[in-house]
Amino acid sequence: MIPPIANRFVAGESPATALEHVRTLNDRNINAIVNLLGEHYDSRSPAAADAAEYRTLVADIGDSNLEACISVKPSQIGLDVGEDVFRDLLEEIVAEATDRDVFVWIDMEDHTTTDVTLDAFEAMTTTYDGNVGVCVQANLERTREDVERLADLPGKVRFVKGAYDEPAEIAYKDKAAVNRAYRELLEYAFEHFEDGIAVGSHDPAMIEHAIDLHEEYGTDFELQMLMGVREDAQEELAAEYEMWQYVPYGGRWKSYFYRRVMERKENLFFVLRAILDR
Ligand code: FAD
Repeated sequence: MIPPIANRFVAGESPATALEHVRTLNDRNINAIVNLLGEHYDSRSPAAADAAEYRTLVADIGDSNLEACISVKPSQIGLDVGEDVFRDLLEEIVAEATDRDVFVWIDMEDHTTTDVTLDAFEAMTTTYDGNVGVCVQANLERTREDVERLADLPGKVRFVKGAYDEPAEIAYKDKAAVNRAYRELLEYAFEHFEDGIAVGSHDPAMIEHAIDLHEEYGTDFELQMLMGVREDAQEELAAEYEMWQYVPYGGRWKSYFYRRVMERKENLFFVLRAILDR
């Protein structure tokens, strides 16, 4: 069982608890991106098991009236085992999801996976008529070129600052440089993309920049934030813009919860307070 303090960031261990959370979000005009927690499997069997759970999940979402899609990590569905395993399992998920009219996001992991992930995205989004999205990271110097390539493809692109500690030879290490790169990527996207822009950030300055660009170019966009982070802002923004919340669930919640707690001292205080209040 997930302890109540972890429930702020993780929607339980089962698909049923995750979908229950999605329903409460939808009631607040927020859509959901459901993610089964799991990564870096070194054999096919857990990867195939997670892929099977995603297929059931998209069927459940398809049968419901929920506004929800899914997001999958490449190393969760076999990338560490082999590119062919990843491609096969991804296609099984995307085929089922497309049948059910459920959108599929591909999360982006560290820079060693960027090429394989973008190639798989291109193949899937072309075959399945734009029913797929991929994440790109502003902290990688290569991303501007990647985004130029993605501009001509169907599907969606999620812009994030980047969560992985990358080598200085290929990445911006300084916060200001990452922010500058993020702003420039958004500028390029709002000017050149027809649609399909997702702004995956909690940063008020980046969100304001996206809104200004939307007003300047008229290009549609959506906002994406994590469960448990700036939830009040999510609700406020949802009144005016398309808002999606990333909703992780599953038995492998501990390392994800730990990352959320350690990334910000306010989160650490929240956990300590919850423990002391018991
Ligand atoms: P930061 O640069 O961390 O913070 C900037 C400002 O935002 C802060 O000063 C504060 O004002 C506000 N803020 C940030 N966090 C909080 C908080 N907890 N509470 C209150 N205010 C806050 N990364 C990947 O590498 N690959 C992915 O596939 C990926 N997918 C993602 C999907 C979604 C929906 C989101 C939201 C993020 C994803 N990320 C992913 C993570 C991303 O790369 C960043 O590491 C993460 O979002 C932190 O950057 P930020 O832009 O939110 O703001």
